[in-house]
Amino acid sequence: MTETGIILKGIGGFYYVRTQSGVIECKARGRFRKAAEKPVIGDRVTIEVQDDGTGYMMSIEPRKNQLLRPAVANVDQLVVVCSAAPPKTETLLIDKVTAIAAHKGIDTLIVINKCDLDRGDRLYQIYTQAGFSVFRVSAETGEGVDALRAALAGKVSAFAGNSGVGKSSLLNCIDAEFNMKTGSISPKTERGRHTTRHVELVELPGGGCIADTPGFSAFDTEKMDLIRKDDLQYAFPEFEPYINQCRFTGCAHVKEKGCAIRAAVEDGKIPRERHESYCKLYESVKNLKEWE
Ligand code: GDP
Ligand code: ZN
Repeated sequence: MTETGIILKGIGGFYYVRTQSGVIECKARGRFRKAAEKPVIGDRVTIEVQDDGTGYMMSIEPRKNQLLRPAVANVDQLVVVCSAAPPKTETLLIDKVTAIAAHKGIDTLIVINKCDLDRGDRLYQIYTQAGFSVFRVSAETGEGVDALRAALAGKVSAFAGNSGVGKSSLLNCIDAEFNMKTGSISPKTERGRHTTRHVELVELPGGGCIADTPGFSAFDTEKMDLIRKDDLQYAFPEFEPYINQCRFTGCAHVKEKGCAIRAAVEDGKIPRERHESYCKLYESVKNLKEWE
């Protein structure tokens, strides 16, 4: 009998696939063991279920997108957890990650944690004005967590955030069993801090799944080598209305005269910090060799 489903986790050659009839342990055989065709979590697959209740992989649907480190396919939304309380998140870091997500066609939610300590008004302003959905939450008091949970329902979400921002606390607040399910040790005991844990999709009681991606490692934050300089402007969605209004075609929107994006920054229509991040990222991708 064949069934379709989504891969929740993969350990040692076994994959755990959520289908209508349950989570089925599957073996990857033949071509699916080759690196090029290896299944990853989030893959939508068709499996053949055998008499003993285990299955094997028949086919993988084409991926709509993929994060590379860790590998997660078909991500509906990226959730960037940040904080205005120490350790404060640099907007450049947020903007690198949202740019890569936008480039891959993945929506981003911005979550400002530790609101009990600092409301993060400027972060809230910047990302709301830039067109993102922004949530203010506190893993400590539970404020805003219901609204965030509602935004996660029925979707595959990947969580990223700089260390110390409260990402694991927040995941546990969203789903009280999250850390237990992923086998991580409670931060309070400090034990097993360095145990590596596999990445998996954790199903939420209200539908939908979340993957906890360590730090910002799912994104090549060092090199931005996924984005060409001419494409970077499109990775800042709020630039879109102005892009074709610059005086010169091919305007880099950095220091050029008659730049409509710089004018929009001066008019307060584009957050200044976003344009500053754009300029820094532009500088870093400018000198990359054109590939192809
Ligand atoms: P992670 O490195 O992002 O996973 O961060 P943790 O979840 O380990 O949290 C880092 C520290 O911040 C811990 O001491 C948490 O108790 C604390 N913390 C996390 N969320 C909040 C919050 O919303 N408010 C306050 N006041 N502290 C928090
Ligand atoms: Zn321009």
